[in-house]
Amino acid sequence: VRFGTLSQRLVLVREHAVLDVNQASEGRFPADAKCALERWEELRAWAGQADWSAARPLADAALGPPVPLPRQVFAVALNYRPHAAEAGFSPPSEPLIFTKFPSCVTGPYGTIALPDGHVDWEIELVAVVGTGGRDIARAKAWGAIAGVTIGQDLSERKLQLTGTPPQFSLAKSFAGFGPTGPVAVTTDELADRDDIGFECWLNNERVQRGRTSEMIFPVDDLVARLSRVCRLLPGDLIFTGTPAGVGNRRNPPRYLAEGDVLVSRFEGIGEIRQSFAR
Ligand code: ZN
Repeated sequence: VRFGTLSQRLVLVREHAVLDVNQASEGRFPADAKCALERWEELRAWAGQADWSAARPLADAALGPPVPLPRQVFAVALNYRPHAAEAGFSPPSEPLIFTKFPSCVTGPYGTIALPDGHVDWEIELVAVVGTGGRDIARAKAWGAIAGVTIGQDLSERKLQLTGTPPQFSLAKSFAGFGPTGPVAVTTDELADRDDIGFECWLNNERVQRGRTSEMIFPVDDLVARLSRVCRLLPGDLIFTGTPAGVGNRRNPPRYLAEGDVLVSRFEGIGEIRQSFAR
């Protein structure tokens, strides 16, 4: 199952078609993604046998974020060894968690206004919480996730790193700094949910690549650790960290500039595309 939103309404997505969940289910499920995900198991069962006769053509550019305005957005710093190394840290023994404030979450395509400072890219797998819960055992953790999507953890490095100690959450929460999409994909559609290849391209240059099997704390481990502290709510997002190749660790550093186009691709999910303007 692949799902997303169109005009803030939950839709199922196929290659060239979308199906409005609320309409096709005759009101059984609400149009709001967070509300519908509260009954994720029921929704997933229905989606597997939904009648697509009322489907409409997919205009790609119209898709919004898979979950608009999630209640909680978790993010992990230094979850890939080469990125920890390029940032000058040894791999952490506990995941270093911060938030991207939910108002920064936006859809898969569009133009993002560059604030003053040094804006950097970070391609990341984003897990979308389904039913959620508290104290989720690692062995059951994938069952708490509705699907995975693509995200960019855009970051303004001056605000992030100028102070001592540095701060993460605010510097990663400017308007548009959390693009996600184009769809969330259930893990049964993936060859291996723990080993997904991905690439980030800036203009015509590949700047990051990796596989999610290289994470220090894999998705199931993150879900178990986070849910020991916070109740995971339907539609919450977990940004799972980025590999090496970000701009501020390059020599010389490189940051996003007006006119740049950033494309982030994951096998089996698709791609998101942002352009940047002053
Ligand atoms: Zn990140």
